Amino acid sequence: MLRRSPAKIWRSRDILYRLKYATCKSCGKAFYPPRARCVYCGSQDVEYRYSSGRGVVKEYTILYQTPSGFGDLSPLIIGLVELEEGFSMLAQIVDVEPDKITPGMRVEAVLRRLVVDGSTGLIYYGIKFAPAEGMR
Ligand SMILES: [Zn+2]
Repeated sequence: MLRRSPAKIWRSRDILYRLKYATCKSCGKAFYPPRARCVYCGSQDVEYRYSSGRGVVKEYTILYQTPSGFGDLSPLIIGLVELEEGFSMLAQIVDVEPDKITPGMRVEAVLRRLVVDGSTGLIYYGIKFAPAEGMR
C-alpha cells in the first residue's frame, strides 16, 4: 500500500499529476523521472519540461495476479511507453482489453485513480496511459 500524506502529495504534484521530464542541454537526451543530473552524461545542465503525454507502447506485460491492494485491477497491463519527446517510462495501460494491445499502439496520458487508502479513505490519483483519441 502506498503511504503518502496529503502534504507529500502536494509537494509531488508536478510529477504525480503532470508529466514532468528533463532534457539535458549538454547531450540533448530526455529522461524520466526528472533529475538534476543527466542520467546519460552526468551533466547538471538540465531543463525541466512538461510532456504532451502522447506516445507509443514499445513493450508490455500483462499481470493476472496483482499484489494485494491492487486486486481489482487484474488483469493489469504494464507498458513501456515511449513519449514523443524521446523519453520512456513504465506505466499502467488502461481502457484496452489485454488481447487488443499491440506494440506500437498510440497512447496518451490520462489521470486515473491509483489506489484508495482503506484507513483514511484518501484516493490517490496518478498518470496512466490509454489508447490515443481515435484508437478507442
Ligand atoms: Zn546529458
